[in-house]
Amino acid sequence: MDSELFKQGLIENDLSKIRKASKVDVHNHCGLGMRFSTFNKWAGGQVTAPPKTMDGIKGLDEYIFGETFKYINKEEHIEFLIEEAIKEAIEDGVKIVEPSIDCSTITFFENSKDFFKLIEDIREKYKNVIDFRPEVGMPKSILNENIEKWMVPCIESGVFKSMDLYGDEALEKFERFKEVYVYGRKKGLKLKAHAGEFQGPENVRKAIEILEVDEVQHGIGAGNSNYVMDLIKERNIRLNICPSSNLILGAVKDIKSHQVRKLFYKEIDITINSDDLLIFNSGVSEEYLLLYKMGVFNENELNYIREESLKR
Ligand SMILES: [Zn+2]
Repeated sequence: MDSELFKQGLIENDLSKIRKASKVDVHNHCGLGMRFSTFNKWAGGQVTAPPKTMDGIKGLDEYIFGETFKYINKEEHIEFLIEEAIKEAIEDGVKIVEPSIDCSTITFFENSKDFFKLIEDIREKYKNVIDFRPEVGMPKSILNENIEKWMVPCIESGVFKSMDLYGDEALEKFERFKEVYVYGRKKGLKLKAHAGEFQGPENVRKAIEILEVDEVQHGIGAGNSNYVMDLIKERNIRLNICPSSNLILGAVKDIKSHQVRKLFYKEIDITINSDDLLIFNSGVSEEYLLLYKMGVFNENELNYIREESLKR
């Protein structure tokens, strides 16, 4: 039923049909999980719209720190950000969502228990329509003392099902995060890290070998190395790919030449995701449609990716 509707939607260029089919969004940054129009309305209508192209993570950070994050300073604002990301995912037919919530969010709460309770309450509120699996994230620029102060209590809380690491890929090595990843594993969290977005296969290999991740956010740089692609396959690692994000941030020159097809035909487990809806203005359904329109995959291939993505 879902499959027929989904494939028809692609062939007929009918987004409403694609949206009705079950999907996942497992590479989704919570603070940016709503449409720009929703955020702008909430913030009073004076927010500058995101530019059409940006200079990598530097450009992205310049925009979000200069334009959107300055409006976020209260506990209720956090509730709004998380809940809107969930509502947006539901609208798009997403059945499993893993939005990463930055560990520094804990600082907005006088009592960390209130932070954890808020997440639990939202999960409970929407549990009949979506499997909301909270993820805790940290930037590569985080200070060691803040890993202890923010990240460790989040892992300990039992609220988060997975963890992620993001920010400037070239910034520094994965070794510094090894200990907290071992702790996350011990506490039963699924381990993810951003790698191979702008950097090549070596960056992906290091994330895999040092942090022992289960999934890589992006990981498209792996497409340039048979060795790293084999390593990904051998360890059954999933790559959570976001085509529009790659294009807008300049990680790929166009969608047609995106590595996603090569990775798929290497039989690597891949998913299609939104990354930052507020910035890239493209939900998971739109990402599928984009790949179809650009001739990267046909409707059967995309439906296979969609069905497989629901299995983990
Ligand atoms: Zn990301």
